[in-house]
Amino acid sequence: VEYYLKNIEDHKYLNAFLEVYTEEAQETAKKVDVKIKEGTAGPLAGLVVSIKDVLCHLDHGLQASSKILEGFQSQFNGTAVQRLIDADAIIIGRTNCDEFAMGSSNENSAFGPVLNAIDNERVPGGSSGGAAVSVQADMCLVALGSDTGGSVRQPAAFCGVIGLKPTYSRISRHGLMAYASSFDCIGLLAKNVDSIAATLEVIAGKDDYDSTVSQKPVPHYSQNLTPDSEYKIAYIRETMEAEGINEEVKAKTVEAIEKLKSNGHQVDAVDFPLLDYLLATYYILTTAEASSNLSRYDGVKYGFRSPHTHDLESMYKKSRSEGFGHEVKTRIMLGTFVLSASYYDAYYTKAQKVRRMIRDETKKILSKYDFIVLPTSPTTAFKLGEHSEDPLEMYLADLFTVQSSVSGLPTISIPNGKDNGGLPIGLQIVSDDFQEEKILAFSNYLI
Ligand code: GLN
Repeated sequence: VEYYLKNIEDHKYLNAFLEVYTEEAQETAKKVDVKIKEGTAGPLAGLVVSIKDVLCHLDHGLQASSKILEGFQSQFNGTAVQRLIDADAIIIGRTNCDEFAMGSSNENSAFGPVLNAIDNERVPGGSSGGAAVSVQADMCLVALGSDTGGSVRQPAAFCGVIGLKPTYSRISRHGLMAYASSFDCIGLLAKNVDSIAATLEVIAGKDDYDSTVSQKPVPHYSQNLTPDSEYKIAYIRETMEAEGINEEVKAKTVEAIEKLKSNGHQVDAVDFPLLDYLLATYYILTTAEASSNLSRYDGVKYGFRSPHTHDLESMYKKSRSEGFGHEVKTRIMLGTFVLSASYYDAYYTKAQKVRRMIRDETKKILSKYDFIVLPTSPTTAFKLGEHSEDPLEMYLADLFTVQSSVSGLPTISIPNGKDNGGLPIGLQIVSDDFQEEKILAFSNYLI
């Protein structure tokens, strides 16, 4: 704990943490130490974890990096957080992120951007930018983030760490603030696969507080990290020809593919003609869900209320106008539009149908192959401000991560070398529903 606290202090300028629980972490460490000596400690005894500012942690601040939740404190522990505590992990603080997890650069936070520790002029990725940097700069061992369309994997790639998004419903969403409920997953970041496996097996699994969570038993991921000797792997031809893919990212992905072949694995190119529909489908459906989920922040129940109001309607309007940031407001408007009576069928219903096609096509590939490999992001970490003017350019950063989110499939980003400027590149591995065990063993083999 002292080691990580010192690193947090030394790296304050990175703005990764919104709050550090110094004394509480020291106290917990002492208690856990006693339990270890007594032989009564839980399976994650002493594991130092950071949690993203979207996870409910009893009597601790919770703002989704938004002004609209100013001063708000959580009144309960989310399931994942409760299981960490019960397993004797030590929560060291809560991390900065894009407001309500909407973004790909962590520049949408009401508390300012997080800086990439490798190059302070560059973004760490988003929305779990603080989580990724907390692992990157050794400020904790494991970080819990959330991944709706890539928010754990893309920052992991930009920061040179590992980021896992499990199958949708593998981990309870109770106590995870909702962005787009049919996509939202808690994700895990660390520098090694073992830490992710050990944490996942504690926090995953059935839960009475989330009716959508899977009832499937949770395997002992950490004890099953031995890879098979031969895998069947697919890569999507279209991803390698996608507009905007950086040449060095492409070259490293090809290198990884060639290495897999020379190690005796079967690697084939497959077609996925729906690539062009991924971002539209993702952004129509997630903004629709977000516009509904975020209607609860009305200035009455939580956090911020505008002081400039004179009646009920102006209180709603002004609290929301002043409390939400620009990107969140854009998405609420987009989502309200696609759900409006005259456009519902043209956009929302259509996107739901395309979502099904994307999942079916992806699963068809996975019925013949163990994994699909692809770059995590078309580029390496970009400069702060580089894409702030043009939201479409920013949304392109998610091109490769949304396929598995739209499909609900498990996927991981692992480090795959660096570009000539020393910036990390990520390789993404997707597998079929509930194949986390296989993904983790394969990642362990590749790293
Ligand atoms: N960048 C994507 C978005 O802005 C993904 C965010 C996420 O996974 N939370 O929606």
